[in-house]
Amino acid sequence: MERIDDPSPPPNKLFLGIDVGGTNVKLGLVDWQGVMQCKGSTATPPLKTPGNIFRFAMEFASLQLEGLGCAHGDLAGVGLAVPGVLDTRDFILREVVNLPGWYGEPLLQILSETSKLPSAVVNDANSAAYAEHGLRELGDKSLALVTLGTGIGCGVVIGGDPHGGDHGCAGELGHIAVRFDRDAIECTCGSRGHLESYAGSAGVIARMRDALAACPNDSVPAGLRDPELTPRDIAKEAAGGFEPAQRIIDETAQYVGQAVGMLGQVIDPAVVLLGGAMTFGGARSVTGQRFLEVVRETVKRTTLVQVGGNIVIEFASLGNDAGVLGAAMVAKQAYRS
Ligand SMILES: [Zn+2]
Repeated sequence: MERIDDPSPPPNKLFLGIDVGGTNVKLGLVDWQGVMQCKGSTATPPLKTPGNIFRFAMEFASLQLEGLGCAHGDLAGVGLAVPGVLDTRDFILREVVNLPGWYGEPLLQILSETSKLPSAVVNDANSAAYAEHGLRELGDKSLALVTLGTGIGCGVVIGGDPHGGDHGCAGELGHIAVRFDRDAIECTCGSRGHLESYAGSAGVIARMRDALAACPNDSVPAGLRDPELTPRDIAKEAAGGFEPAQRIIDETAQYVGQAVGMLGQVIDPAVVLLGGAMTFGGARSVTGQRFLEVVRETVKRTTLVQVGGNIVIEFASLGNDAGVLGAAMVAKQAYRS
């Protein structure tokens, strides 16, 4: 991906990206230009510990190198993306859910000892942001990637490098307050009024249910009566013209826009990307495009002209591959340093 400052890249070097989540481990071999040459995944639970997962990843890399007709020496580095609060000085997870046995482990040390290669560890949100940054060839410009789903994550690349912060919490946009009234909804973290409580999927669904309770019963579309209501159902009915559903999506975009505006005002990034399952159809749908437009308008309305008028706000491009790609790219950084 770094085509500009790599005039003569080693032709055969490959980097292994490992993206570990509570359910799946995603793996990929990525070449010097940032192109994924092969990828795979496995379930996390049977492997459980960092050591087991890293050994599995190295076996995966070995097999894939043979399949690609490459020598084992062509593997030049290994990068790991992990969820949770990553101490970026000691590369230890200080907070993590759904990965028992990972808390407090010296991840960089275990990865280096297992791979015997230049290694790097990065938070998964920052890894994905770094991959999107590389794809756009942004050089030393800054970028934030906001991932909207059950939770709201945000990875930050400042001056061309992933930025974890001094406590591993840089860019925790889900826990920025967007409501300050006394009865603002309580967040999973215990504070009130945070973005995640209003624009995370549970918050969106709860607000939709409140709005439906105020509607005449016979006006509620069948698709919104499902006890397993999802943001996708809300997007579908909004596209079908059900005004209360559109209002919930517009409000969600305003909350996201408020938080992106605050982020913009603090780090003044060149680009902010919105990704994740809950972008209401994204670029492919009219509802998704309107969502993006309302986010942009809100950012403009709530920030200085130089900030709101210049930030490029778009949908993310890389989807599920972003974490693996970014992990491989930080491995390349480790190899070069
Ligand atoms: Zn919170």
